[in-house]
Amino acid sequence: MVIGKLRSELRRELGENAHEADWIITHVTGLTQSDFVLRPREVTDDELREIRGLVNRRLDGEPLQYILGETEFMGLRFKVTGETLIPRADTETLAEEVIEKIGNRKRRVLDIGTGSGCIGISIAKMCKNAEVTLLDYSDAILDVASENAELNGVSAKTVKCDILEEIPEGKYDIIVSNPPYIETETIFGLDNIVTSYEPIEALDGGFDGLMFYRRIAEIAGKLFDGSGFIAFEIGYNQGEAVTELLKDEDFSSVRLKKDACGNDRVVTAKLRQGVFERGD
Ligand code: GLN
Repeated sequence: MVIGKLRSELRRELGENAHEADWIITHVTGLTQSDFVLRPREVTDDELREIRGLVNRRLDGEPLQYILGETEFMGLRFKVTGETLIPRADTETLAEEVIEKIGNRKRRVLDIGTGSGCIGISIAKMCKNAEVTLLDYSDAILDVASENAELNGVSAKTVKCDILEEIPEGKYDIIVSNPPYIETETIFGLDNIVTSYEPIEALDGGFDGLMFYRRIAEIAGKLFDGSGFIAFEIGYNQGEAVTELLKDEDFSSVRLKKDACGNDRVVTAKLRQGVFERGD
C-alpha cells in the first residue's frame, strides 16, 4: 500500500489521536514526515503488519509512548518502559526552573524518584558543570535511567535507595523531585488508562498525597552541606500544603511557579543551617 493512503486510513481510525499516525509510520518505516510527501513509497507487507499491531495496541488504550518505547522531554529522547512514569510536558517547568538556577555553576544535584531520569538527565545535558545523581528504589528503574543518560551522552551517577526507609549517602547542593503525589484514594478514581499502564508506585503519594514531600523535607538537612535548594513538582492544588510543610522544616524563600496552563506546578525553597552561609 502506498504511504499516503495508509496515512489517511490510520488517521481516520485513530480519531482524536490522528496525529499519532505519523509517529507510528515513522517509527516502523524509518521514513521522515517530509519523505511521506517528497519521497512516498509502498509500505512492505512486513511493515504493514507491524504498523497494524501497534495501531491495535493504541486503539486498546495503551499510551503511544509505551508502544514506541520512547518519548521526548525538553527536546531530548528518552526510553520509557512499563517500569517508569511517562515524562509529562508539565514536568518541563520543574526542569527549566532548576536549569535556570544552576546555569554554568558547579552544583551537585540529586534527582529523587528519577524514573526515566528525564529531569536529572535534562539538567546534566544543559548545565555542563552540574554533577547529577539519579535516585530511585529499584534496579529495573535505574537501568532505564542509566540507558537514558547514555542515550543523551551525559554522565550521571545512580543510587538505589528507598527514600521512605533510608537516607542516601552523599552531600548535595540541590534536590529536585517529581515524587508520586496523588492521594491513594483518588488513584482508584483516575482514568483507568493511567493506572492500568503506568506504575502505581510512581503515582501514589499516600493518603493525603504529601507523603514524599514530608519525608524529603525532613531529611533534606542531612543531604545538604550546610545549605541547599529544593525544587519539587506539585499537584495543582498542593501549593499551600507543600509551602507549609517546607516552612515547618525551616525552609525559607518558598516560591510557587505556574506551568504553561497557569496551574501551580513547582515549589522551590532554600534551607540554611546554623551560621554557615554561602553565595546564593
Ligand atoms: N522523575 C520522573 C518524572 O518526572 C518520575 C516521576 C515519578 O515516578 N513520580 O517523570
